[in-house]
Amino acid sequence: MFPVFKCIVCTETKRLRFPPAAGSRGRPKLTTKKTATELPRRRNRRCVSFDNKDSKERCHVILQRLVVGVRAEDVSANNPVDSRYLKLQPNELPAAVLHENVNVQLLQPFLTPHAWQQLQQAIAERQQSDDWFCASCHNDLGTQHSVECTSCLDWFHYGCVGLKRKRKGDWFCCVCV
Ligand SMILES: [Zn+2]
Ligand SMILES: [Zn+2]
Repeated sequence: MFPVFKCIVCTETKRLRFPPAAGSRGRPKLTTKKTATELPRRRNRRCVSFDNKDSKERCHVILQRLVVGVRAEDVSANNPVDSRYLKLQPNELPAAVLHENVNVQLLQPFLTPHAWQQLQQAIAERQQSDDWFCASCHNDLGTQHSVECTSCLDWFHYGCVGLKRKRKGDWFCCVCV
């Protein structure tokens, strides 16, 4: 049944007809990747390997994963973060602070002396164990397939990031993309 309405010009009662449904042809395919404002898509600065970041970006990536209750953007040498805002549990420590090629000293100016001491202690304790944890579910990586983010060096279970097959080359986590 079509809905009924009264014409405001001739006052006759008419039936409203809808156009026949147009067949869906899917989304138009773009030949080049453009943003909604038609500007070419820019490469995401965060999708740069950890090795290729400068020390400021490295600190930011680690602080983003290390602090809770404060924004990493607000942490600076003038506003160092206190230990109560750090995630120091073994399964929460960002993998980057445990990486042999990462100079953790870079973080010292951004932490209060007590927080710096607590972080060093947490790293030392964490290094005693052989466990590695998924940055998504915080469970042990165990023997399950896992993948490292090229940008932040965090590790994830394949299942936790929706990966099914083994990947070659760089992979970036959803936080970094
Ligand atoms: Zn997981
Ligand atoms: Zn990442």
